Amino acid sequence: MAKPDSLAVYVHWPYCARICPYCDFNVYKQREDDRLLKAICDDVAGWRQMSGPRQVSSIHFGGGTPSLMSGDDVAAVIKSVSKHWTLLPDAEIAIEANPQDMDKSRWEDYQCAGINRLSLGVQSFHDAALTLLGRDHDGAKGRAGLELATAIFPSVSLDIIFGWAGQSEDMLQEDLAIALSSGAQHISAYQLTIEEGTAFAKAEDRGQRRAVNSDKSAGFYEAVTKTLTGAGFEHYEVSNFAKPSHRSRHNLAYWQGRDYAGMGPGAHGRLTVNGARMASVAELTPAAYQARISERGTGIAELETLSALDWAEEYLLMGLRIEEGISLARFKALAGRELPQDVITALANDGLLIRRNDRLAASPAGRMVLNSVTEQLLLG
Ligand code: SF4
Repeated sequence: MAKPDSLAVYVHWPYCARICPYCDFNVYKQREDDRLLKAICDDVAGWRQMSGPRQVSSIHFGGGTPSLMSGDDVAAVIKSVSKHWTLLPDAEIAIEANPQDMDKSRWEDYQCAGINRLSLGVQSFHDAALTLLGRDHDGAKGRAGLELATAIFPSVSLDIIFGWAGQSEDMLQEDLAIALSSGAQHISAYQLTIEEGTAFAKAEDRGQRRAVNSDKSAGFYEAVTKTLTGAGFEHYEVSNFAKPSHRSRHNLAYWQGRDYAGMGPGAHGRLTVNGARMASVAELTPAAYQARISERGTGIAELETLSALDWAEEYLLMGLRIEEGISLARFKALAGRELPQDVITALANDGLLIRRNDRLAASPAGRMVLNSVTEQLLLG
């Protein structure tokens, strides 16, 4: 397990070859940008000044589409991290990739650069679903991408989206069966949600269904959980399933409330210095991010110290997403008060919370209604 004061490093590469209609991430249509690469490497030095010496337990290249980066560019960022902090020998170094950008020699370059985990956004193996989702790959490409990824990287994760309009339970089970037979050791299964301001939201406003109704989606979630846990995957977070020792160490840093440095346009970070927890957001556009780094040596646009209550609430909200839950003593130390015992008892009696000594976790049923559970705990 990573040390509590170890640091996770997130690198946001904001470019995509095309913009998907359901996406609400900070993305721009473009493929390469040398100036942005340099800015990100410079930003590492800015973060090092704030954090002091730290051990880095993970680096995660996310986006956008970081698999548009060359192997040399990825190596340059990893080198900059190693130069400014201590990169642990067993650090998880992961990159997200699209099947459409699959490139054997590039992926081998990533592996040589130090990438030891690849996360592939397959979403579905059904061509009709991929068309509806606006993806530029087909099911065959997704399968080929997994075959190549598992041949190169020691740990492979894939993303599945369920709950798209027209999906039946048989179609869902077909997707899961292919995912399970691919050899990937980690599966993230996300429910399709319609985010405000996206092309999907506008289509739904016009009466064109893009997602199934919430009852059907809840049934799909139960089916996903049953199938994957039945196949030996641990359901360690609301949407994440892993074979033993393949949990995402990087994402666990978020959920366990540890520190993470966020580089790249729009990246968020959390840093604890002298007992204060700071929340950062980088400049949103690549141009503004680069300009800020040239002027101030950091890409951070906003930096605020979280109040004790905000820190404690974040710890609770993130911690109840994972199987291990939270430490009640740590919540009390952060918030200066205990969680209400009567609410914990009532939610435990309803089968939504599990309490074991100092740990409080959401049960599988509780994770399905997590917003309501956390709201009751905080308002109770
Ligand atoms: S590839 Fe991913 S990040 Fe890029 S637009 Fe599509 S969903 Fe968003």
